[in-house]
Amino acid sequence: MELIPLVKTNMPREDILIPRLKEVLYSGYVAQGDSVDEFEQSFEHYIGKGKALTVNSGTAALHIALDLIGVSEGDEVISTALTAEPTNIAIKMAGGKIRYADIDYNTGNISAQSIRDSINENTKSIMIVDYAGIPVNVRAIQQISDDFSIPVIHDAAHSIGSKYDGKVAGNHFPYTAFSFQAIKHITTVDGGMLHLKSESEYEKGKLIRWFGLDKSKTRFENNITTLGYKYHMNNVNATLGIIQLETIQDTISKHIENGKYFDKMLADVPGIETLEYYTNTEPSYWLYTLKVENREGFIAKLKENGIMASELHKRNDHHSLLNDFPTELPNLNKFYERLVHIPCGWWVKKEDRERIVNIISSGW
Ligand SMILES: *Cc1c(COP(=O)(O)O)cnc(C)c1O
Repeated sequence: MELIPLVKTNMPREDILIPRLKEVLYSGYVAQGDSVDEFEQSFEHYIGKGKALTVNSGTAALHIALDLIGVSEGDEVISTALTAEPTNIAIKMAGGKIRYADIDYNTGNISAQSIRDSINENTKSIMIVDYAGIPVNVRAIQQISDDFSIPVIHDAAHSIGSKYDGKVAGNHFPYTAFSFQAIKHITTVDGGMLHLKSESEYEKGKLIRWFGLDKSKTRFENNITTLGYKYHMNNVNATLGIIQLETIQDTISKHIENGKYFDKMLADVPGIETLEYYTNTEPSYWLYTLKVENREGFIAKLKENGIMASELHKRNDHHSLLNDFPTELPNLNKFYERLVHIPCGWWVKKEDRERIVNIISSGW
């Protein structure tokens, strides 16, 4: 039996995608060019303001943000252990050390109070993740950033289209990283975006994206003074991105409808704790996260009924390389024992979500 999967690749319809893909593939120009510019402009329009820098992965977007802030040897970045590995690998790529803050047990997201308690003279930046698509405590974290003049990097790989104060992710912090990897809300097969509030940071980001070379000058007019990487996006991936943005509202609203349905229908089921959301935030429900009793039994029961459920992520402090300062994280310990995800994305139909609720409600 094929399980309803937890994640799925969101590929545009063949009749829409193939003609446009064919055009770009045989255009004679597949490198970074007009399609990339068009994708960036559409993305800026989607976010509402600021500058969008396409890259070839979400990890690259995070790495550039860390470089722009100047994170290097000896610097610490406060982060969360409840995330996918790229969040914290990027800190190591920049040469920084990871200082874990605990999470809020009720939301699974990094705790503002624990961030405050983790700041020391080596803290260079704060990395935050909207885990599973649930916005962090934006206001409290902005306040900390202001109080200590420490810039925040927003890893929004799970949370494109989520909102705080009516505005989508990208509007709240100076650096926001998005991922268009295979299983995210929208995909360009692989790809990412660094959204920046500052025009001058955007100009510097462009250099870091491409070997430190300024694309508007010839090779001979160029003099590399900044270390850059091969992080740019090409016209082929960008074409996918342009097409994805044409239907992004529809994609995200399907996640949100399913998520809200589960919020309502699972709230009072014994053995389950649903998550709470911070004031004035709207999740975009990349995954639907629950805390359950007897997780193994829960996963087995769903599997028997053709539904995939999983913990999905390994807490990052359990990787030796990502555990610079072993730290007690009591809320994460409690949360991680009970953590499970159920399918919630655009592929989950009305009848599927009803069945999921019925199966869970019948106990495990
Ligand atoms: C997917 C993901 C990224 C970036 O992933 P790429 O595969 O490099 O695009 C970063 N952070 C989180 C939390 C992710 O899930």
